[in-house]
Amino acid sequence: MALDLADTYDVVVVGGGAAGLSGALMLARSRRSVLVIDAGEPRNAPASGVHGFLSREGVKPADLTEIGRSEVRSYGGHIVTGQVTAATRAPAGRFRVTTSDGEVTEARRLLVTTGLVDELPDVPGLRERWGRDVLHCPYCHGWEVRDRAIGILATGPFAVMKALLFRQWSPQVILLLHTQPPPDAADAERLAARGIAVVEGVVEALEVDDDRLTGVRLQGGRMVPLDAVAVAPYFRANSAVLAGLGLTPTVHPMGVGEMITADTTGRTDVPGVWVAGNVTDLMAQVLASAASGAAAAAAINADLIEEDVEDALAMHRSVMASTGAAIA
Ligand SMILES: Cc1cc2nc3c(=O)[nH]c(=O)nc-3n(C[C@H](O)[C@H](O)[C@H](O)COP(=O)(O)OP(=O)(O)OC[C@H]3O[C@@H](n4cnc5c(N)ncnc54)[C@H](O)[C@@H]3O)c2cc1C
Repeated sequence: MALDLADTYDVVVVGGGAAGLSGALMLARSRRSVLVIDAGEPRNAPASGVHGFLSREGVKPADLTEIGRSEVRSYGGHIVTGQVTAATRAPAGRFRVTTSDGEVTEARRLLVTTGLVDELPDVPGLRERWGRDVLHCPYCHGWEVRDRAIGILATGPFAVMKALLFRQWSPQVILLLHTQPPPDAADAERLAARGIAVVEGVVEALEVDDDRLTGVRLQGGRMVPLDAVAVAPYFRANSAVLAGLGLTPTVHPMGVGEMITADTTGRTDVPGVWVAGNVTDLMAQVLASAASGAAAAAAINADLIEEDVEDALAMHRSVMASTGAAIA
C-alpha cells in the first residue's frame, strides 16, 4: 500500500520508538513538517511493561508507542509504517530517503532513531525467553525477579560486576561461569562475601516448564534450578541507513557494542544528520531515549532557523538591490 508521502519535509525521522516519537513531537510543536517512518519493532517489544518511566510506570511498550503516535499526530506530524533502506544526499543540501516499498521522499534534516539489536549469547532457548525470564538490565526487570533465583551467564569480563549488581535485588544469585575462567582471588572473595555461588560448566540449554524457566542444563547433564537468567548481549546499533551518508559505527569504550557517535545534542559528523536513543547511546533506557530525541529536535529546529534566516536575508537583499534601496 502506498505510504502517501509528501515530496519533501523539514525533517524525516527514521525510527519511531521513544527517541523518534519524542523528537517528532518537539518538531511538530515547533511548526516543522515532520515525517516519522517506523518499522514498528521497538527493542523492548518482548517485555510486558516499561519500568522506570516516571508517570507511565508499567505501561505496555505497544501502548506507550500508541500514545506517542497520537500525540505527534495531534500536532500534524505524519507517521507511517515502513522500513527505510537508504538515506543519501540530494541537491540543495537535502536528504533523499528510500523505503523498502520503493517510496522516496526528501528532507532538510534527518533524525535517525533506529535503536539497536541485542545480540544474545549462543545458547539454545535464550531468544525464545528474551524479555521474559531471560534478562539483561536490573533497572528494567530487577524488581520483577526480586528474591528469586537468578543465574548470571558469564560471557565476558563484566560478569562478576553483573552478579554483584543483581545481588541488590535478590539474595539468590548464582554466577554461571559458562565459557569464562573462574574469578580471581579478590573477586571470588567479593562474591563469597555477598553469598553469590559460582558454578562451573558450560550452559547447554534452558529448561522450561509450562512456559516458565525452571533452570539451566550444564554440559554433562547437571541441572541448576533458576527462575531467571541474566545475560550480556552485544549491543549493535541499527545504523545501516546511515552508511550511505558515510556514518559508520564505532566500538563502545567498554567493548559492549557499537554505536554512532554524536555530540550531546545528537549532532553527527555529517552536517544535517542527528541521532538519538539507543542508536547512539547503547545504555539509554526509555526515558533517556525520549529525552535525547527531544534534545536533538531542539538542536535541529535551531539549525533550521539559522538556514531560514540565511534564506530570508538573501531574499531581502535581492529585493532591496532590485528596488535600489540601500541595504542597512
Ligand atoms: C527486553 C527489554 C526490556 C526493556 N525494558 C525496559 C524498561 O522496563 N524500562 C526502560 O526504560 N527501558 C527498557 N528497555 C530499554 C528500551 O528498550 C530502550 O531504552 C528503548 O527502546 C530505546 O528507544 P529507541 O527509540 O532508541 O529505540 P527503539 O525503541 O528500539 O525504537 C527504534 C524503532 O526504529 C525502528 N527502525 C529500526 N530500523 C529502522 C529502519 N531502517 N526504518 C524504519 N524504522 C526502523 C524499529 O522498528 C523501532 O520501532 C528494555 C530493553 C529490552 C531489550
